[in-house]
Amino acid sequence: MPNLHTRILKLLVYRSRIKRYLKKMATIAKEHKQLLVFAALSDIQYGDMDDGYNFKKTRKRYYRNALVFQKRVMEQWKNMTPEVKFILQLGDIIDGFNKRHGISESSLKETLDVIGDFKTYHVIGNHELYNFDRAALMKTPLFSAGLPECKSSVASPNQFYYSFQAHASLRIIAIDTYEIAAIGWPESSTNYQEAMKYLENNINEDKNSTTNMTGEDRRFAKFNGAVSSTQLKWLNQLLEECDQKKENVIIIGHLPIYPPATAVDCLCWNYEEILSILYKHDCVISYMAGHDHVGGSGIDEHHVQHITIPAILETPPDLDPPMATLYLYNDTLHIDGQYLLDNYDIKLKFPIASMNNIS
Ligand SMILES: [Zn+2]
Repeated sequence: MPNLHTRILKLLVYRSRIKRYLKKMATIAKEHKQLLVFAALSDIQYGDMDDGYNFKKTRKRYYRNALVFQKRVMEQWKNMTPEVKFILQLGDIIDGFNKRHGISESSLKETLDVIGDFKTYHVIGNHELYNFDRAALMKTPLFSAGLPECKSSVASPNQFYYSFQAHASLRIIAIDTYEIAAIGWPESSTNYQEAMKYLENNINEDKNSTTNMTGEDRRFAKFNGAVSSTQLKWLNQLLEECDQKKENVIIIGHLPIYPPATAVDCLCWNYEEILSILYKHDCVISYMAGHDHVGGSGIDEHHVQHITIPAILETPPDLDPPMATLYLYNDTLHIDGQYLLDNYDIKLKFPIASMNNIS
């Protein structure tokens, strides 16, 4: 019997080694086909302030710990092999309450110092606009439309929407979901006036409140916004070019645009118009947003994977912060999620023919 036991044990150890070996080989094989690695995070909402709660007092906000998490996430990406080429920061990098405490500049500096020289593309959210007006934001590193690789795609130098080529077969397009908004613009501006027309759909005196509003009407709150018809035209033309060049496209914006991927309160006011532009084209593989702190996801009928990245801000300090590491393969974009964020495998609309490695 002891002999039999020994043989079974040896067999089990042998099987386990084989399994480990096969897993390692599969990983190596997968790594060799990786064409690009990049990353995404959202809603850090840092502030050098004591912890607080959301508007409804239902969710705790860990303002100082958000910076601790940001550091941890960045360290993880900085030390990764293969190299993480760039980060997509999907908005609300600092919290609006910084303004009230007079620490907008210092809090922004602290969070940008954590990023350091790590290549990062930003979109702006409502909280950036609570702290700064657009003219001030254009003078900060948050104005990614001013980067050399983005400039050629920008219709006019004052716009916050842009695109850049991440890989020969992958383009990132950043849209500005607060171009029409009641925050960030002077009340005399046409963009503010247009926003107030959207907000006529809000029945409350306080336009940040959605009390007694139901369904998708709840999106008509002051903390949301819309894209202009000029931006929609720009997006349509850019997607047309991507179709022709067979570039796969990921669109990023602070506000979600697909109801199943978010709480309806967080939807972009004219999300339907944006979706209708996307659906005219073949190239879009994913739309990624933040804003809804719980996060969410869904695949629409045109096979676009919508992902709303959960907030770093509301993650309890004893857990791991949500982060997305994205791997581009010849036929797939793999998203490795952490904490509340799932993993996703998104089929490319235009598979990449070459087998170039990133090494
Ligand atoms: Zn937001």
